[in-house]
Amino acid sequence: MQEKGSISIHTENIFPIIKKFLYSDNEIFLRELVSNAVDAVQKIKRLSSMGQYSGNIGDPMVSVAFDKEARTITISDNGLGMTAEEIKKYINQIAFSGAEEFVEKFKDAKDANELIGKFGLGFYSAFMVSDKVEINTLSYQDGAQPARWICDGSTEFELTDGTRTERGTDIILHINADSDEFLDKHKLEGILDKYCKFLPVPIKFGSKKEYLPVAEGTEESEDNKEQEIEVDNIINTTTPIWAKPPADLKDEDYLAFYRELYPMSEEPLFWIHLNVDYPFNLTGVLYFPKVKNDFEVQRNKIKLYSRQVFITDEVKDIVPEFLMLLHGVIDSPDIPLNVSRSFLQADSNVKKINSYITKKVADKLADLFKNDRKGYEEKWNDIGIFVKYGMISEEKFYDKAKDFALLTNTKKEFYTLTEYKDKVSPLQTDKNGKVVYLYTNDPAKQDVFIQSANKKGYDVLMMNSPLDGHFISHLERKLENVNVKRVDASVADKLIEKDEKIESILTEEQSNTVKSIFEKAIGRGDMQVEVDSLNPEELPVTVTMDEFMRRMKDMAAMSGGSMGFYGAIPDNYKVAINGNHKLVSRMVDTKDETEQVQLARQVFDLALLSQGMLTGADLTEFVKRSVNLI
Ligand code: ADP
Ligand code: MG
Repeated sequence: MQEKGSISIHTENIFPIIKKFLYSDNEIFLRELVSNAVDAVQKIKRLSSMGQYSGNIGDPMVSVAFDKEARTITISDNGLGMTAEEIKKYINQIAFSGAEEFVEKFKDAKDANELIGKFGLGFYSAFMVSDKVEINTLSYQDGAQPARWICDGSTEFELTDGTRTERGTDIILHINADSDEFLDKHKLEGILDKYCKFLPVPIKFGSKKEYLPVAEGTEESEDNKEQEIEVDNIINTTTPIWAKPPADLKDEDYLAFYRELYPMSEEPLFWIHLNVDYPFNLTGVLYFPKVKNDFEVQRNKIKLYSRQVFITDEVKDIVPEFLMLLHGVIDSPDIPLNVSRSFLQADSNVKKINSYITKKVADKLADLFKNDRKGYEEKWNDIGIFVKYGMISEEKFYDKAKDFALLTNTKKEFYTLTEYKDKVSPLQTDKNGKVVYLYTNDPAKQDVFIQSANKKGYDVLMMNSPLDGHFISHLERKLENVNVKRVDASVADKLIEKDEKIESILTEEQSNTVKSIFEKAIGRGDMQVEVDSLNPEELPVTVTMDEFMRRMKDMAAMSGGSMGFYGAIPDNYKVAINGNHKLVSRMVDTKDETEQVQLARQVFDLALLSQGMLTGADLTEFVKRSVNLI
């Protein structure tokens, strides 16, 4: 038999197009050819199990070998093989209808993956790295003749009788001059490790030379013996953990797999085994890592597979944004090998997968919370960030998480949202019936305020992660009748406005005097002095910043000053003088004005000092004055 022909009457230009495609992506040729080989092996197994093939299927096997001198890479399998007719049908008639359409669509293709996916060109990706491609194959069918197909990268092909004596297929790539890098053991090993590490059929890898028998006794033979052992190396795990039933797995298996994927990482906190087959197919294992500070480094740790073939680790559209910090593997045959960004964004399965993962994660957390509250609280430091981020960014997740999200206070106690409201409502409800939640974002700096609040029986929440600012605003929107205030937003007596009034010791006139003494002593336009009748036990002077103004400033800072006028918001402090404090009464009694101003300055500086606001020349001045006073 000898036949020559043209691959498609209209497609004179497809090979240059394929070849020219993104050299950065060209390593995927190996993924495509190995997965074709795996498919062929799976198909013969299926035919055999359905009774449509009665021969011996042998040990399913795919091998990848290269020969540096001959400049070839050979991918072989003992799968179902092809007849000459099948080559014509599956290889020659490429899965697109005409060259015009192809060239038209190709213009919009963003990368080789999209091109391959759109046109069923997996096999032809071989031409990205080859001058010439050969198929040598023998079909499983009774009486089939071996067939050989050769194509040199033009649109001409040659189909002749083949030489293969056993069922299966060899794909021989004659590597082109630009693709020398692929004739290298480490390079090929690297690619196989990336894409083929978990394929369901054993994959052997070696170089042609290593297969050659060598004479005994020579120095070379020692080397080669060693290499022969290497040749037998199977490079993949055929049944990775996510393909096994969860019931068969122990914690140790999950941990071992995690170590295999991320050898340098700390142990994960816990994991979720995904396993659905309706309405879409999805398996996988997602791990919750211990969160480190450097979020960026931790991202892109989820690997996407399609039937155990690695596709990508950019799962941005499949995994909800707030779960991008998770690690692990997801596998869905509903996602094609040659997946492209635009496919993922448009695909409806992808959206379903996204919400399924969200649901599974929420269920897992709810479970942990319910069954082991203590253990859950211990992990909260690490999982809190996911949960809060998820609550802010996904309405559906919020609805579930509101029952297991925890609030922590300065005493390191944990409360759910409901528990917390019940806890603080009695003492922290203001005269308008709003429950006021107090928080600190810097317990060291705000210690004075925390202590004052605690003295009144108020609770103070810890909100000191970068995300907490957003989380607070979100809670305020979500929780009915709740106001949130930073603990230093006001003096403790005024943090939560109540009807009760503390009698003033000072007369109105005295109060005005005190005010002007302090104004003189402070002499700063950004500090508003106010004399209040507070609890005598409270500090004589407290510097506060209004909650609303502070949030405006925080917002401006977060937007890097890009918010126009917000960026120009000046600091606006309030200096609350406790008119009922002994020191203030003493100040009024002292008739000497210089002494009054000095005293006022001293207590004001003390307030600044306790809030970490006294620095530089002011601090030096304070120390000098203090020494003098002593
Ligand atoms: P796809 O794998 O998406 O079908 P490809 O271009 O990769 O597209 O392959 C085209 C077809 O060629 C396959 O569907 C299969 O029928 C046939 N084929 C490719 N490689 C092999 C192989 N190693 N053994 C048997 N058939 C193969
Ligand atoms: Mg294919």
